[in-house]
Amino acid sequence: MQQGKLIVFSGPSGCGKSTVVAELCRKNAQMMPSISATTRAPRGNEQHGKEYFFLKRKEFEAEIADDAFLEYAEVFGNYYGTKWRWLAEEWEKGTWILLDIDVQGAMQIREKAGDALLIFIAPPSMEILRQRLENRQTESAEKIQMRLAEAQRELEFSEKYDAVVINDKLEETVLQIENILKQRFNNQLTE
Ligand code: 5GP
Repeated sequence: MQQGKLIVFSGPSGCGKSTVVAELCRKNAQMMPSISATTRAPRGNEQHGKEYFFLKRKEFEAEIADDAFLEYAEVFGNYYGTKWRWLAEEWEKGTWILLDIDVQGAMQIREKAGDALLIFIAPPSMEILRQRLENRQTESAEKIQMRLAEAQRELEFSEKYDAVVINDKLEETVLQIENILKQRFNNQLTE
């Protein structure tokens, strides 16, 4: 059986990464989103074990001490991380695991898993990013400002990725990514 693949997506908060990942997984049966652990509070209808594993700071720090994470980082004052065990089990089954993680985590994956493919999702412009964050209505004005400043820093990392895709229209973005995956993985992508 083919071993799985690790496909990492980063990009500023609000650029549409999680929607892109969800759409790729919906269209491609061999793909699955990674479920990260985090210390941030659930947003809206988010459920433990579905969007994230929600942990207390102490629990997360105990897992760091246990070397449980393939990568982890502190983003906007909260910890986020990918657990080795979960990932390895899925990867061995041949699953293509799609990770939506920040640039610090992506750089750790680049070092530890040389085969991983890193894709940077960029917004069409900073103004559109601001509008998307405001339309989400999940963050305060202050938090939106913080995420926009962080977006600027993250964009500078885009050159370290294997590909940069501008997310304007979801359907086109997904097709573009599927083409990148077909090229990189010799057409192993079956729809
Ligand atoms: P949000 O709070 O909006 O769900 O995510 C905030 C940021 O944390 C996003 O940029 C997201 O990609 C990143 N993130 C989510 N899970 C992980 C993870 O497991 N590791 C790292 N390094 N970043 C993550």
